[in-house]
Amino acid sequence: MEICTSCEEQGKKTRNGKPHELLSKDGIARIFKGINPRGFEEQDYHCLSCKAKFTHSTDKSDRPWTLWQG
Ligand SMILES: [Zn+2]
Repeated sequence: MEICTSCEEQGKKTRNGKPHELLSKDGIARIFKGINPRGFEEQDYHCLSCKAKFTHSTDKSDRPWTLWQG
């Protein structure tokens, strides 16, 4: 499945990068509290244009924007 150019760019964004305008939130953020006292959050998104799915993570050891190929 082809992903749109906005999603291509999204995968290169940093942790502080905003979701592009056609990314819609899936559910609510998952909050992890653990070794890192500040914890981290994961939020799922899907693209209204190309149906790509992303997970945004604030975990420092993870990729900020992970694209799930359908
Ligand atoms: Zn897209």
